[in-house]
Amino acid sequence: MKIIIAGGGIGGLCTAISLSLDGHEVRVLEQAPEIGEVGAGVQISSNGTKILQNLGVMSGLEPAVFEPDAIEMRMGNSGRQVFYLPMKDVATKRWGDRHLQVFRPDLIEALRARLEVVAPGVLTTGARVQAYRQNDHAVTVILSDGTELQADLLIGADGVRSRIRSQMFGGDNPVYTGNTAWRAVVPAERLGDLIPPPTGCIWAGEGKHAVTTRMRKGQLINFVGIVETPNPLHDDQPGQDGWRQAGTQAQALQDFGNWSPVISRIINEAGDMFRWPLFGRAPLARWSDGRVVLLGDAAHPMLPSMAQGAVAAFEDAVVLTRALRNIGSSGDAVAAACSTYFNDRIERATKVQEVSAQNLQLFHTPSGAKRSFSFAAAGLAGRFLPEILYRRYDWLYGAEV
Ligand SMILES: Cc1cc2nc3c(=O)[nH]c(=O)nc-3n(C[C@H](O)[C@H](O)[C@H](O)COP(=O)(O)OP(=O)(O)OC[C@H]3O[C@@H](n4cnc5c(N)ncnc54)[C@H](O)[C@@H]3O)c2cc1C
Repeated sequence: MKIIIAGGGIGGLCTAISLSLDGHEVRVLEQAPEIGEVGAGVQISSNGTKILQNLGVMSGLEPAVFEPDAIEMRMGNSGRQVFYLPMKDVATKRWGDRHLQVFRPDLIEALRARLEVVAPGVLTTGARVQAYRQNDHAVTVILSDGTELQADLLIGADGVRSRIRSQMFGGDNPVYTGNTAWRAVVPAERLGDLIPPPTGCIWAGEGKHAVTTRMRKGQLINFVGIVETPNPLHDDQPGQDGWRQAGTQAQALQDFGNWSPVISRIINEAGDMFRWPLFGRAPLARWSDGRVVLLGDAAHPMLPSMAQGAVAAFEDAVVLTRALRNIGSSGDAVAAACSTYFNDRIERATKVQEVSAQNLQLFHTPSGAKRSFSFAAAGLAGRFLPEILYRRYDWLYGAEV
């Protein structure tokens, strides 16, 4: 089939690789003048690493990854450890591949490079998809400069503020989740003794949490600090560079300054600070309309508290590829394949959205009996019965989508 993908982000590029390997003629249209990603970290759990491995992306990504010793939780203010769950060695044995931490620009570059190998020249930048129309025979994709392109299928991989989704469902706008994420990346050598542990470390606190990870074999430290706060963009209008907003170290220190010195040291060394108001959308009853289908954040945006949004987009890519295999290109066949993809994905994607929201509540629990009980239970399980904690991840990390 001839397939156009709107959006050359993590989901769009992965889908383009997967579909090209299956023999489809793919074209990716990315609105930005250059392909790129925000200078921040992303965790890729085993269910995602397996997909990148199968698509031939991992070898290009290898020099950029960091494999953490464990996932752990600490109290943000004191640094006291709540639980510690070893991951190195365990992840491959239990779930089939490694749990990794990666610098986003490295991931997008590895995806871009792999796509260029499997389907040279199919990525066009500076191409903004404005709208679509369709009939029984084809979908016509209309770009903002008036260009019209025809295809058998249009995939909307255009992120949480998807234009394709807006056209499909009318006034379904993203909703501010009440949380805003600070992000910073700092060279490890600048942190001295106050370097965060070589783990995926969740720092929990009342109404906020942070996550520290390492990237590029440990040379870079990634910080995400999520705070419950009114939307800093006030009027839901795009801020600088789309939806991120410039902030100051002083503002970030207001949020995290009285926490462990490990956290304040990162902020002090971070230079320019930016924050991202986090937007969400309710689950949909369908992800497609005839020859047009949604994927990744356009279909199911989620809070980052399970570190699964990008990985879920990888899963979408392979499930959609499978649904489109050997179906011909009639309107009915394409629509039916898109429904199959939705049916195969909706339960899992919705569950990950829900668990991500629950995790955020857990990390942000105010001090008191409830928090003491749940954190003590996790601590005891991690120490004496780690199997209980590992089992909680089996459905997610162990899946072979
Ligand atoms: C703070 C934070 C931490 C996170 N951590 C993790 C993590 O550890 N692990 C994980 O798996 N996920 C994580 N995520 C989620 C992950 O970043 C997203 O789920 C993922 O980037 C979604 O990919 P996507 O391709 O669907 O959308 P996007 O990455 O938003 O890409 C969409 C692309 O479409 C382009 N585009 C938009 N409109 C148009 C148009 N009209 N025409 C053409 N192009 C267009 C955009 O420019 C962009 O390149 C995190 C998210 C946040 C905010």
